[in-house]
Amino acid sequence: MSTIDLTLDSILERYKAVQQRDYQIACIGELTSAINEGNDAVLHLPTGTGKTFIYAPIAIEASESGFRTCVLCYTKFMQDRVREDFARFPGGNIANTIFGVSFYTCPRFGRKADNWTCEENREDCMNQSYECEVIASEKRYSEDPLIITNYSKFLKYRGADWDLIIIDDSHSFETVKDQAYQYSVDYGLVDEIYEKHKNEEIIGDFLGNFCDIFDDIFETALPHERKQGTLGIDFVKRLAEEIFTEDNEKRLREGIQRLPDRDKQVCDEVYRFVGACKRAADHRFYLRKDWFTPEDPKLAELIAREVEATIDFKIPDRFRRARIILATATPGAPEKHIRECTQRNYEKVGLKVVPETMPKSLADWFRNLDIYLLSDLGDTRSSVNFRRALRFAANIMRIAKAKTILLFKNFNDQKMAKDFLKNEFEDIYFVERDDDEDTIHKYANQSRIILASASTRLWEGISINDLRLGIIFTPPFIRVPVHVPAPTYPYNERIMLRRLQQGIGRLIRSETDEGTCLLLDANFGKYVQRKRFADDLRERAREIDSADLLRAAEIWDKFKE
Ligand code: SF4
Repeated sequence: MSTIDLTLDSILERYKAVQQRDYQIACIGELTSAINEGNDAVLHLPTGTGKTFIYAPIAIEASESGFRTCVLCYTKFMQDRVREDFARFPGGNIANTIFGVSFYTCPRFGRKADNWTCEENREDCMNQSYECEVIASEKRYSEDPLIITNYSKFLKYRGADWDLIIIDDSHSFETVKDQAYQYSVDYGLVDEIYEKHKNEEIIGDFLGNFCDIFDDIFETALPHERKQGTLGIDFVKRLAEEIFTEDNEKRLREGIQRLPDRDKQVCDEVYRFVGACKRAADHRFYLRKDWFTPEDPKLAELIAREVEATIDFKIPDRFRRARIILATATPGAPEKHIRECTQRNYEKVGLKVVPETMPKSLADWFRNLDIYLLSDLGDTRSSVNFRRALRFAANIMRIAKAKTILLFKNFNDQKMAKDFLKNEFEDIYFVERDDDEDTIHKYANQSRIILASASTRLWEGISINDLRLGIIFTPPFIRVPVHVPAPTYPYNERIMLRRLQQGIGRLIRSETDEGTCLLLDANFGKYVQRKRFADDLRERAREIDSADLLRAAEIWDKFKE
């Protein structure tokens, strides 16, 4: 493991470039000691408390002292923001951002770069000395002292030698890590794109063949009562042999390249999935039906996941000997969280949680948050109760004309809500399953009402300005990853509680924010009592019935200001 030796005085000297806060100074001291003593660390502070200002001077000091440092962010937006924050500190301009390939332009083919074309042509492009940002960024990734990149790049690209790795918003890293080594194909999206292109010879045949086999898989691959499970080898062979052949592969790839961006992305996913079927020995294959509506094929997906032995090699190889700092607002159980992220067992490496105790001044931020547990709307997994909850939410939004987020357990509930609300309210943003982080960020910030389901990335830290009201319909359980042998309740509940607290916590992002969060499902009452639900939030929660809440002028008058 890397031995890092940093001088606290020098770090604090850099830190003077921004407004001094006692708790930040204390955290810089605790983190520096933890790293100097050979530990990994979890920096746990609420959103908006300036975690970047705590780790940036440490990262800059480390890189200037000869310790290669890498900062990992979820989205390109976050990478840009973190780089701006670094630039405020002496020496911070040294930090270079490295984005995903699709954010660069290809000088050779005169279009947006993509992994596919680069993988195939990289060597030739290098021989022909193309001055290309993709090749230049790969060189920087191996050589620069201080890099800011994204989770996917870090997990999927080859390993590099880092002394210090900082994972920003690390709660999202757990989810991305689970998905980084698999290709998944969402049948609903494929069917939609097929309908657009079904009369085109190459693309129509390609997607049509896939949909035909998918229909057979959906009907017969799993016993009726199973919602997810592995795919038999016969289906994998059919997928490998019947979708496209070596003879038409080149024409197919050219056809996919000519499609509009979104269609191209879906076709690319199918192509890569079928490619994994052709290399079946390297993967395991799964069918996953929707948890709540398993009879609907449009909500089902096929997943090809690299074999676990390969993944078990890759993740430790990405971290190698680096010291690791996780920065998070909602770690749940910090030790479990860091183990999930890094796959280290922490028997030989120490682990510190910073700060040791949450400063009172920060806990006080949550005084401006009200959480109401609705006592009479019942279990919103039942469609009758869900519709009641929806009517109630609409009534609330008629009174409280504030920026509002509505969070649902799944895409179907979200769609039902959209159909119900779209004629009554303007300015609604409905987060689609395939919206990327930057699209979500843009539209979530422009719209008054935002609808999102538990599986979308919006729960995981995409920041939304001026949010005042949150309405959470149902506990946001997400599916256990396909490779986890049997759905285990505690695993699911840990992730659900983390998402729930992220959903609530996004209402308070500064000392002056005020927020109101309504938890509609009757089961929330027991979940807020769990050990992993933060005391600061639990103290703000109170039970109320829906009629009383609608009549409570003292609550809604605040929204008229
Ligand atoms: S590696 Fe080649 S194909 Fe990829 S962006 Fe660079 S020039 Fe284009």
